Amino acid sequence: MKFLVDRTLGRLAKGLRMLGYDTLYYRGSDPYQLFRLAREEERVILTRSSKLTPKRPEDQVVRIQEDRPWAQLKELIEKGLVSLHEEELLSRCLLCNSLLEEASREEVEGSVPEFIYYQYEIFFRCPQCQKVYWPGSHQERMNQRIKELFAKG
Ligand SMILES: [Zn+2]
Repeated sequence: MKFLVDRTLGRLAKGLRMLGYDTLYYRGSDPYQLFRLAREEERVILTRSSKLTPKRPEDQVVRIQEDRPWAQLKELIEKGLVSLHEEELLSRCLLCNSLLEEASREEVEGSVPEFIYYQYEIFFRCPQCQKVYWPGSHQERMNQRIKELFAKG
């Protein structure tokens, strides 16, 4: 499932990308453009607005009630729209949605702090915006929170 979030849900886009979901963020305010984009790539539109209603039978709009990103993810899990795919966790750039590529230590020299550079051998880099990601405590905390998110009960 691919998503398109509108400007009422910018922070949710990052959360969905973190889980590996292909998620575009539409910052504009033109609903026709929003729907066109969604149709072109068969994306489900997520919004908090009650005014955004489907224009055609193929349009899929899901209204989110919660206002905090983690609660919104939980809401999507409960609605059955999002599930856990471990191999896809943290596979996308949180900023621009591109799939990350593995990069060697040499390739990221100069773009990460020195102590990080010496600590890891494998990095991940966004081919689009060049942001570099590495394993570490931040990722472990994130994985922990993701596990909690999907825990039953
Ligand atoms: Zn990026």
